[in-house]
Amino acid sequence: KLYNQIQDLKGNIRVYCRVRPFLPGQLSLSSSVAGTEGRTITINTLTKYGKNGHKSFSFNKVFGPASTQEEVFSDMQPLIRSVLDGFNVCIFAYGQTGSGKTYTMSGPKVLTEESLGVNYRALNDLFNIQTQRKGTINYEISVQMIEIYNEQVRDLLQDEIRNTCQKGLAVPDASIVPVTSTSDVVELMNQGQKNRAVGSTAINDRSSRSHSCLSVHVQGQDLTSGTMLRGCMHLVDLAGSERVDKSEVVGDRLKEAQYINRSLSALGDVIASLAQKNLHVPYRNSKLTQLLQDSLGGQAKTLMFVHISPEVDAVGETISTLKFAERVA
Ligand code: ADP
Ligand code: MG
Repeated sequence: KLYNQIQDLKGNIRVYCRVRPFLPGQLSLSSSVAGTEGRTITINTLTKYGKNGHKSFSFNKVFGPASTQEEVFSDMQPLIRSVLDGFNVCIFAYGQTGSGKTYTMSGPKVLTEESLGVNYRALNDLFNIQTQRKGTINYEISVQMIEIYNEQVRDLLQDEIRNTCQKGLAVPDASIVPVTSTSDVVELMNQGQKNRAVGSTAINDRSSRSHSCLSVHVQGQDLTSGTMLRGCMHLVDLAGSERVDKSEVVGDRLKEAQYINRSLSALGDVIASLAQKNLHVPYRNSKLTQLLQDSLGGQAKTLMFVHISPEVDAVGETISTLKFAERVA
């Protein structure tokens, strides 16, 4: 319960920022990020715009390039645990392709214990607490995995066993699979990745142009009072936010880009209007916000986690990512 008291002080919408380090083999002579300190990131605008300038942005938290997966997760842990108290939670990874969204959420291609991402750590943590509270609360945990590509929703667990329909699902037609251990979840995530690859020529390309969402549904019964509670958490790895040059792409590629632009700005509009406590929240402008409507707003907790590439070449996208984040903060 203490966790929620701490969270409540922060409000229901928070915005984090993480800067990817330069990758092995990359020349790290200059970075567009002049520095990160506490809640502030400062961008060096000198090179690109020819102005001798710095621009600073402040969020609830900024993780510099040296931050570890462990640090990032432990900061998010209270938010994640609140799902066990019946809260709905949405975590979005936003940023241009290559900025580290998938690294934060899932980890790198070759996983080590230290590099495991938020998805794995979150489920692992929920299972640990499920065990700890065994005598007092009986938790049932199940997951869904979907992908949204060109505003079409695809069930990534369609080849898995289907559970009978449960109420309160974010995606009513997608399979919901009960899980009891992290190895169950790893198996499902691998299955989902495989299904995702079907029908796409290059998986990396596809994954940067679609939104993928791992939803964790929790149902808890208090063994003394019999009271039931439900919570769900959506862990969303968004499509790359980079703008494509309309003069350079045509046909399907242009259509994809337009779908991505529209759905990311619809998401931004929803979160910004929640942050401003507007009466009208424009949920219906995209599939993603429609699906997550019950988990955005009200008592639900939202974390917009923006990712930044350090390269000087990327400074234009970096600034627009930070402006997007500033708008929803
Ligand atoms: P995105 O999903 O935003 O397109 P990725 O997560 O695939 O970006 O990251 C691009 C590359 O950078 C990958 O090789 C990834 O492993 C690496 N990378 C991203 N973030 C980090 C980080 N914080 N530490 C080390 N490597 C990272
Ligand atoms: Mg990715």
